[in-house]
Amino acid sequence: MNKKGRVFSGARPTGRQHLGNYLGAVQNYVKLQDEYECIYCIVDVHALTTMETTKDLKSNSLEMALDWLAAGVRPEDTIIFIQSHVPEVMELHTMLSMVTPLGKLTDLPTFKEKVREQPNNVNYGLVGYPVLMAADILLYKANFVPVGVDQAPHIEFTREVARSFNFRYGKNVLVEPQMKVTEVPKVLGIDGQQKMGKSLNNHIEIASSPEETQARVMQMVTDPARIKRSDPGNPDVCNVFSMHKIFSSREDVEMVNVECRRAGIGCVDCKKLYAKNLNEHLAPLRERRTKLADDPQAIWDILDHGAQQARTIARQTMQEVRDAIGLP
Ligand code: ADP
Repeated sequence: MNKKGRVFSGARPTGRQHLGNYLGAVQNYVKLQDEYECIYCIVDVHALTTMETTKDLKSNSLEMALDWLAAGVRPEDTIIFIQSHVPEVMELHTMLSMVTPLGKLTDLPTFKEKVREQPNNVNYGLVGYPVLMAADILLYKANFVPVGVDQAPHIEFTREVARSFNFRYGKNVLVEPQMKVTEVPKVLGIDGQQKMGKSLNNHIEIASSPEETQARVMQMVTDPARIKRSDPGNPDVCNVFSMHKIFSSREDVEMVNVECRRAGIGCVDCKKLYAKNLNEHLAPLRERRTKLADDPQAIWDILDHGAQQARTIARQTMQEVRDAIGLP
């Protein structure tokens, strides 16, 4: 089939994926494969900019790859690999840094945020983060990058770097990528307040057992105004209801919507129903994951094969880049 272009996406190796990652990124990864030639990268080098320890880097990369594959990323159609396995990206990063004004990097909102977050570790790599990200995208000549709106400045930056490079060296080597804004829900954590994330420990891992999942769901915060079982609830402000809308059948959603408002159903039953539906939705994924996890070497082989495919593209681009610059 003729594909509509090449998609690149990278994610830091954060280990087992939670529902936020699943709904916000992984499901989209799976869908994009039908129409695009996809390259998905576990960006371990990016992770070094903020990491205190690297001891879990390997296992986290494996766990993440397992989740992606179990969710339906198809290595026979898609390149899936680990960033550092294709060292050409570091070389392109250096070349791009020469056409990048420093002020542009220090002005980026994401950089300022990181400085606030880790004032004692404002390392050189942190400033160069968007340059490495641009190198990832440009090395593979990606046409589209699926991102949330918060990443818009980085994609704009990537486009500018590509233009600057092509202009400075007088050759049209690098391809300006386009943003593919993905309309994803901001998945809230079990606290019902903040974005689901590992660091806040308000997450539900997709690979959890049904029992663990149910236990986490039972901790979810519902409509805070509903104190007693006999109080009517308001599904419009309830995070459990928003999740029902994603994972439950239309009948269940309608039932909860009606019965919650007239206190016909309590929060406990509502959560049990959500946990059941969520577990049913995730069951096939979990089954695939268990099988895949039986043979970790096979996963490393998939990642190695992906790196070889990625490297073929990377070597070609770097040859063009070196020629354009005029390196001896
Ligand atoms: P990264 O630094 O690689 O973005 P994250 O773990 O923060 O690592 O996110 C990985 C992907 O999952 C991103 O595309 C992000 O937008 C998405 N994601 C993470 N948490 C959530 C959430 N709570 N709701 C929606 N999407 C999320």
